[in-house]
Amino acid sequence: MGSPENLIRDHLKEVKAYSSARDEFEGEAEVFLDANENSLGSATEVLYNRYPDPHHKALKQRWSEIKGISTDRIFFGNGSDEPIDLLIRLFCEPRQDHIITMPPTYGMYSVSAAINAVENVLVPLTPDFRIDFKELKEVWNGSSKLLFLCSPNNPTGNLLSREIILDILKSFPGIVVVDEAYIDFSSEPSWIAELEHYRNLVVLQTLSKAWGMAGIRVGVAMGDPFVISMLEKIKPPYNLSLANQTLALEALSHEAKKIDQVKILLEERDKLKAVLADLPLVQEVVSSHANFLLVRFERSDELFDYLIGHKVIVRNRTKELHCKGCLRITVGTPAENSRLVGLLHSFE
Ligand SMILES: *Cc1c(COP(=O)(O)O)cnc(C)c1O
Repeated sequence: MGSPENLIRDHLKEVKAYSSARDEFEGEAEVFLDANENSLGSATEVLYNRYPDPHHKALKQRWSEIKGISTDRIFFGNGSDEPIDLLIRLFCEPRQDHIITMPPTYGMYSVSAAINAVENVLVPLTPDFRIDFKELKEVWNGSSKLLFLCSPNNPTGNLLSREIILDILKSFPGIVVVDEAYIDFSSEPSWIAELEHYRNLVVLQTLSKAWGMAGIRVGVAMGDPFVISMLEKIKPPYNLSLANQTLALEALSHEAKKIDQVKILLEERDKLKAVLADLPLVQEVVSSHANFLLVRFERSDELFDYLIGHKVIVRNRTKELHCKGCLRITVGTPAENSRLVGLLHSFE
């Protein structure tokens, strides 16, 4: 396994983080004339005139209590899309290094790589959506800086094999990123339990899915303290607004509500899965550890348009690798799921 200190881009070893006004003064003060803020207040009723904490201390403290890991292993980003981009910028020299991804999977890894002029080497999942470890080992080399694994995977919903991921962690030359956006919907434990054993492991989670906070854009990267300190150094100083941080903290203080909603969504998912599996139109419902189902239909494009015609939008994934005829259906409210099922019956 590669050591993170040797894997980061050379020039970043020397880069100094921006030092904000609030960084340069520590201690108690009553009058803040150091940051060119509007001292009178805000245009809004609620006050936002002060810059937010660039180090997200309160959020990290709370997340560390919830997850049982130390605060120096926690990085908060503007959605998990931000740490995906920052990880590529931290480890990959443009036009020289590459990332590896396993389609069909989440689209942002390849978009972020392309924006950063970093090649994305594809090692497709097998047709039943498992890691092709043999092919992976043949493909990786010293320029393989990041491997993105998504488990539970989007758009397929299945978990990737724990044993294979362990083998990868032991032998991959670069950093292994496990994207756990859907981990709250899974019965399997999070990979954060392995962070102490593998310095080359980074785990991504988000407030966008189970926590129901997609609108505020808060994602989390967890990993080795050195990697986390480097992400802190290269991020925009105020990447989480005061509104983001305040609302994220509020969400995290209502964990019981998240747990209740996950329970309902899982019941709904399993009901929906049973109904779908009985429809003649349905060829396959992929086993899901997430809050969505990947479903293979006959006449999927026609069905997709029919649903849109009735104001119900699902995601057409038929053009993704191994996903011919597949629609990705997010689990909705009980009423929304009934409406979908009604439309499926009338379509048939
Ligand atoms: C939804 C999703 C995310 C979340 O992205 P945010 O930027 O945190 O909203 C990350 N990874 C995967 C695989 C997802 O499906």
